[in-house]
Amino acid sequence: MRLSIKMKLENIKKVCVKCNATCCKFGGPTLTKKERDSILKSGFKDYFKLPRYSGNAKGYFEIKCKKGVCPYLKNCLCKVHKVRPVLCKIWPVFPMIKKGKMKYYVFECPLAPYLSNSDIKKMAKLAGKMPPKIYKISWGEMTPKELNEVMKYKAIPLKQWLKNHA
Ligand code: SF4
Ligand code: SF4
Repeated sequence: MRLSIKMKLENIKKVCVKCNATCCKFGGPTLTKKERDSILKSGFKDYFKLPRYSGNAKGYFEIKCKKGVCPYLKNCLCKVHKVRPVLCKIWPVFPMIKKGKMKYYVFECPLAPYLSNSDIKKMAKLAGKMPPKIYKISWGEMTPKELNEVMKYKAIPLKQWLKNHA
């Protein structure tokens, strides 16, 4: 079912709870220092660590996950929802870096069919505001198991997705 108006939070919750919050079990998002500080200033526990990234990752952080599960996840809901990182806000839109350029994809998770083209475009716009490096770090941080889980969802190039759902 495709909604013509922006999907209400309650409906999103229902789909994501039914999915068992799969995308919150991909090893956690990469985030900027500003995003980390915003979570800490809101009074949430410090679960942050530095990325293993071999290049210069100054200013970026990872979340310490247990078996890939984000510690801010409780009963399939995000405890830090209001201050959650951009990489959580944009899913199921997620860029990959190819030859130094960001290529946008929509991953066909259970939520994707409920999102309008306008929702997807907004997510892509937000994704584009982040530096490409954050996606490079994020993909690099995933364990082979987490990567396999992500890739279970078909990745459709953004333009093709929008055309298919016009
Ligand atoms: S956004 Fe998609 S993968 Fe994540 S919990 Fe919701 S339905 Fe599942
Ligand atoms: S911060 Fe929230 S939305 Fe992001 S992975 Fe953790 S629980 Fe999920």
